[in-house]
Amino acid sequence: MKTSLIIHPEELSRAWIDRAANAGISVLGIHPKGGRRAPVYVREMMEMMKTREFRELIDYAHARGLAVEYELHAASYLLPRELFTEERDFFRMNEQGERTPDLNFCVSDEKAMRVFAENAVKLAGELYGSSKNFYFWLDDVKDSACCCEKCRELSPSDQQLLAVNAILREIKKRVPGARMAYLAYADSMAPPEKVKAEEGVFLEYAPMEKYKEGAEALAEKEEAMLLPLLAFFCKRDAKVLEYWYDNSMFSGWEKPPKRFEPNVAQMARDVHFYREKGFEYISSFACFLGEDYEKLYGEADISPFAECVKE
Ligand SMILES: [Zn+2]
Repeated sequence: MKTSLIIHPEELSRAWIDRAANAGISVLGIHPKGGRRAPVYVREMMEMMKTREFRELIDYAHARGLAVEYELHAASYLLPRELFTEERDFFRMNEQGERTPDLNFCVSDEKAMRVFAENAVKLAGELYGSSKNFYFWLDDVKDSACCCEKCRELSPSDQQLLAVNAILREIKKRVPGARMAYLAYADSMAPPEKVKAEEGVFLEYAPMEKYKEGAEALAEKEEAMLLPLLAFFCKRDAKVLEYWYDNSMFSGWEKPPKRFEPNVAQMARDVHFYREKGFEYISSFACFLGEDYEKLYGEADISPFAECVKE
């Protein structure tokens, strides 16, 4: 079983790397914050990545046997919003029929897609010490797909997969064996209908709804939600992105972090369910458990996660 815990770039430390490596976790995930300010956080991470401190930490993670992956909401970063003044057609049409640079873009516009993919190739090359798994998610807001005449025929899932395919085709030319996540999340939970996945696209299933509606409410729905996705994407490569250790969510995305206790019983049930469905890669957000957390409450205990995902 491949496993990963995902933290914010500013939380990366030797302590976190040792904690993950000592627990036998295979991948350390780095995730700049999402929401509408996601492109700002991506830019901050890219600045941080130029520093010696950051690079030495990534080298240290590798030395401790951890692979490193970067997971980010990247659409607004990859298609710079400043282009709106000259290239309105690059951008999405909202439900009122107006082009807007607020979120995402028009996936039916060939030129927009080309710029998007070129910038993705550049970003892939800049992610220091990254594995060949890439996660350039669309923007982190519901109802942000394009409604233009062409895109209207495509669901948010189809629009995402078109974008992911376009990026992956370009990245593979530079990075043989590269793979790219399709994020099943928010309004992309239904499988795509009109677009086929390029070789190397894998499912990343992030059931945030479970935490909004309560695990019990979702338990019945989860199988119905998941099976069509697993049928559409290759089951063997599918990855779960869970929230068991997401103290940013439990703290309401506001600092200071709250004291955190994982729901171990739910996690154990979930892991059992995911294994049964054929997932071989299980990960969880583990944000807001960095040095500031340690100062307030002591070191976060990730052993229950390691225990649950053990072969
Ligand atoms: Zn469009």
